[in-house]
Amino acid sequence: MKTRQIAIDGVSSSGKTTVGKIVAERLGYEFIDSGLLYRLATKIVLDRELPKERYAEALNGVSVDIVEGKIIVDGSVFPMDLLRTKEVDELVSPVSEDPKVREEITDLLRKIASSKNVVMVGRDIGSVVLKDAFLKVFLTATLEERANRRFKELFLRGENITFEEVYENLKKRDVIDSTREVAPLKVPEDAYVIDTTMLSIEEVVTLIFEFIKGKEYALRNSQNYSDTLF
Ligand code: C5P
Repeated sequence: MKTRQIAIDGVSSSGKTTVGKIVAERLGYEFIDSGLLYRLATKIVLDRELPKERYAEALNGVSVDIVEGKIIVDGSVFPMDLLRTKEVDELVSPVSEDPKVREEITDLLRKIASSKNVVMVGRDIGSVVLKDAFLKVFLTATLEERANRRFKELFLRGENITFEEVYENLKKRDVIDSTREVAPLKVPEDAYVIDTTMLSIEEVVTLIFEFIKGKEYALRNSQNYSDTLF
């Protein structure tokens, strides 16, 4: 079956998840947040107290799937709250640098996308995981604005953290994510870039639907054109 894939990449707290979920819902596509899988690998590293040289083992023998936005680990739904903690935030970028961890997660993401239409969000979706995605979008926002958004989220959840800690964590993750050797965070050549600093969620969603319309129009025209050739 030919599936359609929409890749949304971007820096931490640029709005990928919120926007991606809405776009997926309106299109009737499955929403896949690849960051959750890197967070899961990190949670396992923390629980098993694995040292850096053993990060690669984190997902060994663990059966993982994403169904209706939920992470299923060995047949049971994994509690999301455990994946978005301060401790996971601190270690997730170093764990994500491990090539073996990336390979396993990339294979899983491709398998999921081969069987259904997806909106997939992450750091390397358009550049590595789904290079042939129908539409690629890259979201950015200033570090200040992103730290504000993330601090609000953690504060509302009752996490004991300061704005400065959140700011420094995002800054550090930006550097690690964009300078790592395997699949660094970068804007894919054929991606539409949206700076979300001054935009509401709905404005970002509207822009993405404009891009989808544009792509569909171009696709229809190229099909009509090739019909006239033969
Ligand atoms: O998107 P989120 O902030 O939940 O991602 C957490 C971390 O997982 C990122 O900072 C990055 O280190 C890693 N990640 C990645 N590749 C992806 C998605 C997330 O390296 N496709």
